Amino acid sequence: MKKIDILDLSPKELEDLVSGLGERPYRVSQLARWIYKKNIRSFEEMTDLSKGFRSTLKDVARLSSIRLRREQTSRDGTKKFLFELEDGSRIESVLIPDAHRLTLCISTQVGCLMGCAFCLTARLRRIRNLRPGEIVDQFLAVRELSPYGVTNIVFMGMGEPLDNFESTVKAIEILTHPGYVGMSPRRVTVSTSGLVPEIAELGERAPVNLSISLNASNDRLRSRLMPVNNKYPLKTLIEAGASYPLSGRGKLTFEYVLIKDVNDAKSNAVELVGLLRGIRCMVNLIPYNEAPPLEYQTPERDRALQFQKVLIDGGIRAMIRKSRGRDILGACGQLVADYPLEETDARSGAQPSAVAALPS
Ligand code: SAH
Ligand code: SF4
Repeated sequence: MKKIDILDLSPKELEDLVSGLGERPYRVSQLARWIYKKNIRSFEEMTDLSKGFRSTLKDVARLSSIRLRREQTSRDGTKKFLFELEDGSRIESVLIPDAHRLTLCISTQVGCLMGCAFCLTARLRRIRNLRPGEIVDQFLAVRELSPYGVTNIVFMGMGEPLDNFESTVKAIEILTHPGYVGMSPRRVTVSTSGLVPEIAELGERAPVNLSISLNASNDRLRSRLMPVNNKYPLKTLIEAGASYPLSGRGKLTFEYVLIKDVNDAKSNAVELVGLLRGIRCMVNLIPYNEAPPLEYQTPERDRALQFQKVLIDGGIRAMIRKSRGRDILGACGQLVADYPLEETDARSGAQPSAVAALPS
């Protein structure tokens, strides 16, 4: 019989497992404390569990572990971690320190199916989805390695979190449950390229902060850059963002990657103001991180400032995000976990076939 990996279980599923084994409910919090607070991976070491229960657990369950293969530190203090999974696949996570926070950027898939033209991860296609435990374990592993821990989590690493919906929801449940990891939902942000039905479902099942990667100011341009737009165009997407339930201080963010001569003109900024008028949100402008062999370029600083000014003058809060970890290819859109990229593919732009393959 295949053993259950406890790290993959949502809080409810762990309760069911423990009660199914005839144990009392308080055993659940004991187990969760060992795993998620103390990072212990052997039932033997869980000394406040009875010997009998430990041995039953060993028979039916296991505790997996991702393996750190490499750690790189950028000049700006950003750290990139390469992890190997049990089947040998690889993913990356990035820890970004700033004045007040230590933000961990985690992956949800090996590769990504969404086919965005400007993103290096897209070149891998979707190799596979991560299991919930593999998502959570990135946090557990980095917390262990980081002297000051981790204060915030963003789902902005490799992959499209909402294309691996069930695992993402379970991982959020584990990360935010007070008896498990216990991170405040206000410190967790999911970033999506725009899977509209899943945005609504996330709002119902695991409402954390939402960030929508807009990256274009009209449908023609967005469909060229992000094939997902053919399925869920801007109007529908922005409506989904506006109806997403946010708690008191929670915030809706739109990410807009500024790419030289592609989407960074004043006219694009004016269009964006029109799209977002009346929506309580914040726009993060991300100067494009160059990602050879892709041929897109970072705009001049003045272009970014001009773009920001148009938004602000139009009544929209907008920040230019500092790029972090570029020198170790640890910035947004640069994560490929050492997978080789095919040269020919890299020049082809957005892949139309990705649209057909998009999750329904
Ligand atoms: N798949 C999700 C989360 C991972 S991508 C999403 O697309 O939102 C995280 C962010 O990186 C997105 O906002 C994406 O638009 C941005 N991004 C991708 N490639 C980039 C690049 N080369 N430079 C800057 N940002 C990039
Ligand atoms: Fe996937 Fe996000 Fe990259 Fe698009 S930008 S290919 S959705 S990881």
